Amino acid sequence: EYQFGISRITADGLTAGTVLLAFDVTEQAAAEHSRREFTANVSHELKTPLQSIMGSAELLENGLVKQEDVPQFVGVIRTEAARLVTLVEDIIHLSQLDEGTAPEKEQVNLLELADSAVSALRERAEERHIGLSVSGENLMVDGVRNFLYEMFYNLIDNAIKYNIDGGKVEVTVLTGDTAATVSVKDTGIGIPPEYQARVFERFFRVDKSRSKASGGTGLGLSIVKHIAQYHHAEIKLHSGNGRGTIIEILFAIGEM
Ligand code: ADP
Repeated sequence: EYQFGISRITADGLTAGTVLLAFDVTEQAAAEHSRREFTANVSHELKTPLQSIMGSAELLENGLVKQEDVPQFVGVIRTEAARLVTLVEDIIHLSQLDEGTAPEKEQVNLLELADSAVSALRERAEERHIGLSVSGENLMVDGVRNFLYEMFYNLIDNAIKYNIDGGKVEVTVLTGDTAATVSVKDTGIGIPPEYQARVFERFFRVDKSRSKASGGTGLGLSIVKHIAQYHHAEIKLHSGNGRGTIIEILFAIGEM
């Protein structure tokens, strides 16, 4: 789809030439559409927790909650507020990545970042008796430390959330000939083939209730995708219904 514009260039009142301008508006229109969709999604995602916070607060304020139920309502307020914090952080990170205003790159050790993300999530895994392991080599890449940490955090967080109780999560960092591969492997519920291409879309969830119950925003993997792109890395997904999931991020060696 093209948009045309005609301008006449005049010099001293004489027509010096006619220029035909053609813009490809397809891409522009698609970007505009996805921006609108994103805003609509964000509004919805913000409204839902805010409404439960308001509802619980009003009931408490009006003394409509039995004494023994008070902790439950306070709990709802805290959980929903925590979800809002995560959501706002996710949105800020996405917009930094979109606008390319992310911090400067530096030499970072991927194995070290994998280790810190695993430590941060260990308690959550232990609550569900999920084994969490990291292995591999010390590997330096030119990258943004916070974002690469967030990449590991989101991938490992998902590998725990969508796992079975007593399952396993293995994180590895390996150097090959042409690429360094980070992989996060789980023994969880898997992603059905028909949804595999869509899980990297903003706000897409296979099972909305499961994602929400575990504090998911539906933005985690789209952030991972943007972080990978920012570092010129490629993402590979291997999964099947009920067969666990492996997500690999391939960093090209030497050209970052
Ligand atoms: P969420 O906040 O819902 O976890 P993500 O963007 O991180 O959002 O993931 C999108 C969807 O992809 C999830 O809702 C879930 O359905 C699916 N998913 C992501 N990681 C895994 C995984 N390791 N195993 C199974 N399903 C997954």
